[in-house]
Amino acid sequence: MSITQRLTDIKEKLPEQVSLVAVSKTKPDTDILEAYESGHRDFGENKVQDLTGKAERLPKDINWHYIGHLQTNKVKYIAPFVYLVHAVDSEKLLKMLQKEAAKNNRTIKCLLQAKIAKEETKFGLSFSDITDLLKKKDDYPNIKIVGLMAMATNSKSEEEVRAEFQGLNIFFESLKDEDFSILSIGMSNDWPIAVEEGSSMIRVGSSIFGPRNY
Ligand SMILES: *Cc1c(COP(=O)(O)O)cnc(C)c1O
Repeated sequence: MSITQRLTDIKEKLPEQVSLVAVSKTKPDTDILEAYESGHRDFGENKVQDLTGKAERLPKDINWHYIGHLQTNKVKYIAPFVYLVHAVDSEKLLKMLQKEAAKNNRTIKCLLQAKIAKEETKFGLSFSDITDLLKKKDDYPNIKIVGLMAMATNSKSEEEVRAEFQGLNIFFESLKDEDFSILSIGMSNDWPIAVEEGSSMIRVGSSIFGPRNY
């Protein structure tokens, strides 16, 4: 099956209010262009160097999502053009994003990454850290915090994944308003569960572009 077909298949299954970020990390420009030609505009990358290279080479009306852990010393490279930063996991990063957004005379949209998975290695903020950060959002005039992002435990248990998404969605609903309206959850192996549990943005890579070989 082609990239376009796989993309179309997923889009047909998505409720209208759920958007799709096609995660193109490790994939060549030609794969992105195929999806682009079919009308898709939102792509996600998790390496700063890959993202800046692709953004330079590919059409300018692509919305580039930065989906991975972002190091503060690399913010400056993506600040001029990034569309949405998905995984803000510290106040330090938020401060750097503010600084670079101001330098570039723009507003950068961000999601706060909530830690819901059991694995030690996954980055993210606790619900109380998120509540505290949101109280300080006036300190970040060039940042628009538009919602939450999370990754569930990499588990075969649908119940476990669902419970993590459910807990997050209850918290998200308690914060939700016009400006804070994005819940970025769901990847290739769990997006149907995420959509049932309130996702408004899924991030899908391998189900569209095929498996990655690192
Ligand atoms: C790689 C990645 C995805 C997509 O993963 P797939 O399993 O290929 O769909 C989504 N979100 C983040 C943060 C990722 O790093």
